[in-house]
Amino acid sequence: MARGKSRLWLIILILILVLLGAGAFYVWPHLEGDPPQVALEKPLKYLGKSNTVFLRVSDQGRGLAWVRVTMQQNERKGVVLNQAFDAPGAPVASLKLAVNPLEMGMRQGKATLVVEAADRSWRNWMKGNVVVKEFPVMVDTTPPQLSSLSQIIRLNRGGTGLAVYTVNEAEASHGVRVGDQVFRGWSPWPQQPNTKLCYFAYADGNPQGMNIDLWAQDPAGNQVQMPLNVKVRWKNFKTDIINLNESFMNRVAARFADQIPTDRQTPLAKFLWINQELRQLDNAEIAKAALPSQPYQLWQKTMERPLGAPKAAFGDRREYVLDKKEVSRSVHLGQDLAHTERSPVKAAAKGIVRYAAKRGIYGNCVIISHGQGVASLYGHLSELRVKPGDEVQRGQVIGLSGMTGLALGDHLHFSILVGGVFVNPTEWWDPHWVQDNVLLRFSEAGLSQPLPPGQQ
Ligand SMILES: [Zn+2]
Repeated sequence: MARGKSRLWLIILILILVLLGAGAFYVWPHLEGDPPQVALEKPLKYLGKSNTVFLRVSDQGRGLAWVRVTMQQNERKGVVLNQAFDAPGAPVASLKLAVNPLEMGMRQGKATLVVEAADRSWRNWMKGNVVVKEFPVMVDTTPPQLSSLSQIIRLNRGGTGLAVYTVNEAEASHGVRVGDQVFRGWSPWPQQPNTKLCYFAYADGNPQGMNIDLWAQDPAGNQVQMPLNVKVRWKNFKTDIINLNESFMNRVAARFADQIPTDRQTPLAKFLWINQELRQLDNAEIAKAALPSQPYQLWQKTMERPLGAPKAAFGDRREYVLDKKEVSRSVHLGQDLAHTERSPVKAAAKGIVRYAAKRGIYGNCVIISHGQGVASLYGHLSELRVKPGDEVQRGQVIGLSGMTGLALGDHLHFSILVGGVFVNPTEWWDPHWVQDNVLLRFSEAGLSQPLPPGQQ
């Protein structure tokens, strides 16, 4: 009797243990203790007038239950987002937050973006694991202030302009905008950090009447722009007709045989690839190489004009005709100068070599940066005498003239670029132009020439 009773108890005990085990097996994962992870897609330092903040919240365990984002500043508090997730909960949520500090009654200055998130764990009396993450931010909804120090700027079609202005926020980026083209400015006066300059261009391909504005943007994204007082002088460029024939096109194609895509079969298709696609690619690569710069003016007085008789000018339009039909067009973005064969080519001014290699239609090509986004280019060279990174002095021989690339006779192709845009180089050779368009900008603003420290 006693034996039978104790066996019954044993069975009940085993049953209880099995049930507890099964219960634990089921319940245990629901009691996981890993809280959700919260991260911003990009570091956040400032909040401007309206901001889009990307937030990533994830949970490795039972998934997300809810996410709440608030903005807090002293006693002020605003809700940015309040989102619940249906069962079984989301493993990850990429959230796009529209944060509008002024609409939430926030003031300028320090604030905190608070992100709270909970998972679907049964811990904490079914409330889940809750994480609270705070991101300190600076509310700045005031755009920087811009002020032009320049009088009337006269700008030629295809030419260069210089603007001198002030921006009252040290961390703002700034410059000049011509239509959609953005030119960045520089701060070359250490004693006057708010005083800036920007070289800009009216690209030869721009239509007439484009807006020209000063612009600035602070790190909070607040933007300001104001019209710059510019008078654009319109001029028409000359047009040359170039009659193509098969032997000419074959001669040209032979030079680029290793580069022409194999699906260009006919002499015309090959020529068009060189004259249009390769030219475009070259100009884009050149713009990129000419852009990196340092904030001081390394050139002085003028750019030195290379030796040689002019053969083609900046802005020349070329129409290519085959069998009385126009098949292609191009614009010449520099000055062609022919001297003796293999004549020494000199740096137009002091600068830093950014490029010294073969470059498509320009052949062996050197690009020198003269600071503040101004660069010079030397094409068709037969020999290169410098390498990228070299510092060169005005008049230093950088190579020998030649006919590499798309050149039919020995000559130098000389270009100037401003902010990556090809401009008329003859302006830069002319001391009167430099006086009226560069030096006058500094003197009317009461500034010294922005030469490197120690040279002023
Ligand atoms: Zn040329």
